[in-house]
Amino acid sequence: MRGRFITLEGVDGAGKSTHVEWIAHWLCERGVDLCLSREPGGTPLGEKLRELLLDPAQQVDADAEALLMFAARKQHLAQVIVPALERGQWVLCDRFTDATFAYQGGGRGIAASRLAILEQWVQGSLQPDLTLYFDVPVEIARARLMATRALDRFEQEQASFFERVRTGYLERARSDPARIRVVDSTQSIEDVRAAIAGSLTQLWARA
Ligand code: ADP
Ligand code: MG
Repeated sequence: MRGRFITLEGVDGAGKSTHVEWIAHWLCERGVDLCLSREPGGTPLGEKLRELLLDPAQQVDADAEALLMFAARKQHLAQVIVPALERGQWVLCDRFTDATFAYQGGGRGIAASRLAILEQWVQGSLQPDLTLYFDVPVEIARARLMATRALDRFEQEQASFFERVRTGYLERARSDPARIRVVDSTQSIEDVRAAIAGSLTQLWARA
């Protein structure tokens, strides 16, 4: 039986990395054979593109950025995601196409209709079965990030950029409410986990 595809989304500092292991554990406890991955990246080629895309020293044209994201994604789908799902593994991915609509669409201003062309090209009808979007006001995400690590090329953007990214995510969530679950990530880690567990339980019941 084909596996399920789960993606995690949200601005930098929203809490994706914080919850990924917990979600993996939740699934593995139920006997799911899980493939963990991330975007951009997830393949040798994709990880090289990731390095370039996140490098603060690179000057990247907005369309070039979007095309590289989808190039890395196509490689990831071909080499990792689709074969895993076909083997019956579940795939849990830290970011996927919603991030491109949010960052390159909302953040950089590329029209969603243009990104949709690339989405169709690269994915056809393939979409995640469940997307957990960790929603948090930009200032909170910012404060969390500052406390933890050196900022990459995206993370160094202005607050206004992240406001547009957040708006991009929320628009995307409104356009596909059956797939994208908006999780209020201002809550405590425990309460966020309770919300995640609710969504996973629903997905599990359908599997
Ligand atoms: P992301 O992977 O989405 O960029 P992280 O999971 O790395 O975000 O979280 C960024 C920081 O915020 C981490 O230090 C993490 O411990 C903290 N954090 C995440 N979720 C919460 C939460 N619900 N409440 C308080 N702090 C949180
Ligand atoms: Mg992270």
